[in-house]
Amino acid sequence: MFAVEMGIIDTHCHLTDLPLKNNLDEVIQRAEIAGVDRFVVPGYDLASSRAACRLAASFPAIKAAIGLHPAWLGTAEAKTGFSPEPFRQLARLRHPVAIGEIGLDYALADYSAAVQADVLETQLELAALLSLPVIIHCRRAFEPLYLSLRKFPGVIGVIHAYGGGPKLVEKFLDSGYYIGFGGGVTRPHARKVRETARIVPDDRILLETDAPYIGSHTVLKGESEPKDCLAAAQALAELRGLSLAEIVALTTANAASLFKISVTSSR
Ligand SMILES: [Zn+2]
Repeated sequence: MFAVEMGIIDTHCHLTDLPLKNNLDEVIQRAEIAGVDRFVVPGYDLASSRAACRLAASFPAIKAAIGLHPAWLGTAEAKTGFSPEPFRQLARLRHPVAIGEIGLDYALADYSAAVQADVLETQLELAALLSLPVIIHCRRAFEPLYLSLRKFPGVIGVIHAYGGGPKLVEKFLDSGYYIGFGGGVTRPHARKVRETARIVPDDRILLETDAPYIGSHTVLKGESEPKDCLAAAQALAELRGLSLAEIVALTTANAASLFKISVTSSR
């Protein structure tokens, strides 16, 4: 445990997935010991979005997001078009804090750029309709992502696990977006991510793990947990010349503001 007043919010962790979902009480307990006391759990398809909402209903520390990720775009959606209707109904019923994770992934060969952009923009429209922020996944598609986001100037959100480098980041910052940092900043040789982490303004940084998927300097991919947000916070503090308490205070305030949740945990 460390001496800060405020708890860390892991703004991106898949507590609906293995191995985390089978040991949820222990995972949450280990997180709390590391000072991480709230969790935003994004869905990536309808089933995981429903599962995230169920978790949020049972654990006050968990907030859900719902959406269709480009990797989970089914062949039906690719062929006949994507309907946001089931997500809209789920949002009405369960009040998620965001639409996500959604985005573009050109590292995947499965679906064309046009289909991906169409599904993304339909969900950006849903976010605008529901006045919700978005959680964006993007690989090798930062320019086209920017063009899609620009069509929805009323929508803001976070570019999660941002890997687009320091030059492009300005575009997303100018559009009102937050930038999510996790295990990447703990890797001494992750030059691009660490350089970006130095220049993003204080009021736009978020902490995340993408647990269990993205690892860190010391944790293998597939084995990370929300507790690892602490190591990312320490790395960010060092990179930006701030104290750990300062980084925690500002990233938690940012997450609370973006997702409209309380700054302090209710416990
Ligand atoms: Zn994710």
